[in-house]
Amino acid sequence: MQRIAQVLINITTKNINKAFSYSIPDHLDYVDAGWRVLVPFGNRKLEGFVIDIIIEEDSNRIELKPIIDILDNDKWFDEHMMHTARWISEYYLCNLVDAMRLFIPGKSGVKSVVAYSVEMEVDTETTLVALSAKYPEYSQVLSYIETHSPILSVKLEKKFGPSVLKAIRYLVRNKIIIAESIAKKMGTHRYKTIMSLLMDAEATREQISKLAKKPAQCRLLQYLIDHGQLASDELKKSNTSHETVKKLVQDGLIKLEKVQVVRDSYADICKAKNDISLTAEQQQVLEKIMPKMEARKFQSFLLHGITGSGKTQVYIEAVAAARQKNRQAIVLVPEIALTSQIVSRFKARFGDDVVVMHSKLSTGERYDAWQRLRGKQAGIVIGARSAIFAPLPDVGIIIMDEEHEFTYKQEETPRYHTRQVAITRATLSGAVVIMGSATPAIETYFQTQMGQHTLLLMSKRIANANLPAVTIVDMREELRKKRRSVISLPLQELLQETISRGEQAIILLNRRGYATFVMCRECGHIVRCKHCDISLVYHSVGKKLKCHYCQCIETVPDICPECNSRYIRFFGTGTQKLQEEIVTLFPHIRVVRMDQDTTGGRMAYDRILEAFAKGEYDLLLGTQMVAKGHDVKNVTAVGIIAADSILNLPDFRAAERVYALLTQAAGRAGRGDKAGKVVVQTYNPEHYAVQAGANQDYQSFYESEIVYRKALCYPPYGQIIKLTVQAKEESMARNQAEQIIKELRSLMAESKTVEIIGPFPAPIAKVNDIFRMNIIIKAKDLTNVRAYITSMGLTIRPDVMIDVEPVSIM
Ligand code: ADP
Ligand code: ZN
Ligand code: ZN
Repeated sequence: MQRIAQVLINITTKNINKAFSYSIPDHLDYVDAGWRVLVPFGNRKLEGFVIDIIIEEDSNRIELKPIIDILDNDKWFDEHMMHTARWISEYYLCNLVDAMRLFIPGKSGVKSVVAYSVEMEVDTETTLVALSAKYPEYSQVLSYIETHSPILSVKLEKKFGPSVLKAIRYLVRNKIIIAESIAKKMGTHRYKTIMSLLMDAEATREQISKLAKKPAQCRLLQYLIDHGQLASDELKKSNTSHETVKKLVQDGLIKLEKVQVVRDSYADICKAKNDISLTAEQQQVLEKIMPKMEARKFQSFLLHGITGSGKTQVYIEAVAAARQKNRQAIVLVPEIALTSQIVSRFKARFGDDVVVMHSKLSTGERYDAWQRLRGKQAGIVIGARSAIFAPLPDVGIIIMDEEHEFTYKQEETPRYHTRQVAITRATLSGAVVIMGSATPAIETYFQTQMGQHTLLLMSKRIANANLPAVTIVDMREELRKKRRSVISLPLQELLQETISRGEQAIILLNRRGYATFVMCRECGHIVRCKHCDISLVYHSVGKKLKCHYCQCIETVPDICPECNSRYIRFFGTGTQKLQEEIVTLFPHIRVVRMDQDTTGGRMAYDRILEAFAKGEYDLLLGTQMVAKGHDVKNVTAVGIIAADSILNLPDFRAAERVYALLTQAAGRAGRGDKAGKVVVQTYNPEHYAVQAGANQDYQSFYESEIVYRKALCYPPYGQIIKLTVQAKEESMARNQAEQIIKELRSLMAESKTVEIIGPFPAPIAKVNDIFRMNIIIKAKDLTNVRAYITSMGLTIRPDVMIDVEPVSIM
């Protein structure tokens, strides 16, 4: 009888979607489903995930390669994780290994490289002699390999140049050297050496007096008396060298210790204490959550609370209750860089119990963070969507702040939605899910009305601050009055008043559809990226045109490449141009701009916001990101420019986006004791999303929107799968797409509830020289469609992207 491991190889090749069999060596006989292992694959050694163990009765029947090693000291995937991964792969139609990869820190646990060494049997000396007669340059390579083995081919190339590859091939083929793949474990612990005194301070001082002629040694000892310890990489601090340390260790005066370094780049985020007594509304909401938490049963809540109603405090109290029961918590935020206020409030309350995770962590940092959560040394993880995969043994609560945000949907395989994964995970571990928003997603609100989630309502701002008064400005009227400025008269007046009272303002410019592009006034030609089918964006810094997809940079043409006209001009409004216009209108205003170009670094957003909050600027100007969850009490005016340009996009969620943007942006004004005012500039003043957004009336928006969704069978009434077919030639992409549609139609002949639309070119029809053709499948229930897509082999086709429940149909 023999136990055989079924192993998925952690590689991203889409068309390998099966498990491979490996034998389990005796010394690893405890390996079971859920372990990460190192296995031979082809001539490489790769990371694999054991997904099953099968028993072979006749152990002589098959010859299998054995598992080489384990990658962790314990099983990595527990049953809940395995179950969730399986669910993701079935629901979102991706390979199981892609779903499992979500649960490990970094994309792979090992890195494998090829190294060369001399074959055991070979007598190097005679071989060298033989070689040097025939191929003198090969013999040089061989003797170098002999003295440096095992050596990587890149190192050999560095030493001998690219021609070395020929020599390597010759030597390998003639069995003089062997190629072996070396696997390097990634993301292991990092250590540093700490030195400290062996004797007490008194005895050490005595020693110092005897060492008068050795000032360096004295300095280090004195430093250790004063500070207790010193890390060896900080020797500079005591102005001493490694030699000095060595001497002191030999003389038995100090000792060295290796300690694990926990990498946490948020370690020193500010800690502000807060003792807040809850408002009646907060109390009521918590009273509904607590009994469910006691019951250890899954329950999901929609916390629908207007901006500034104190949702974050509810999250904190609910998490505290879970921690009291020694259960762990996942706190999800749309984008970690934009939510440092939440992070610091959690840190202030829970200190080191909080682990902060985001996509910019190094693999090492992520590994450390996950180990602390696995080992229950930390109880709370805060992060963007990937934090839902953190390995917490006992999740008691999952918080999803701003649950309507589209960043919760992953836009690459596996294209999961965090909300669905959160509910799946919470169901398995008997946890409570709290989804919070001022503008819930239409689907979430609908599900709440159907009884899937419990509604918790918070309708008052803290300290009875009022919602701001909103003025809608019809920009077509402005034009009729011959005003061509991007800033309407009402907005100009509002800014004037606000600044003169010493208060602050925010202007939000919706970048989408309003970027600066270059157009010829004579023939209408627009300068586009050669590789991607989108217009290039003008950046006045460096006066360049930049593609926001492939990042390529072009110079601005002097004459139109189409008609040679000299009337080639910039159009549209970017934040830079808006800033120039504002400075012209208000020469003394202190403006700070925040958009993708100014917030490159990890903390840049924080720094800008901090400076603005401190009152160093009068006006904060930027794209969508200025609308996100910050809380500056002195902001009393908000201007929203072209908030409705999204309405022109062919997307069923356009109105929802507009409503959310208006509410979030307006929600920044009047959060303190001063009243707020908002000006909304629009070309669609009568649209229900604009009207409801201006009144911050979610109910009326929902009622209009749900009617439209129902009429067109869009979510939540229908479900959608988007297929994107990619090819180097446009005709090829179209043919392939038509082929798929034909086959789908014939499979679904009898079911009349499935609608297939397309093929049509994706809105950005070409990215990096690859054409993209879309197919939309709409159905009341996708179960059958999923089965057809799988049986047609589309899930393993590298040229087909599958997006189940896409956030946009563009
Ligand atoms: P939301 O997340 O709903 O927009 P916040 O949680 O950011 O609202 O709360 C808005 C402001 O009110 C914050 O400055 C917060 O510190 C404060 N706050 C929240 N709860 C209370 C309370 N019970 N008492 C006093 N201030 C509170
Ligand atoms: Zn032209
Ligand atoms: Zn491009």
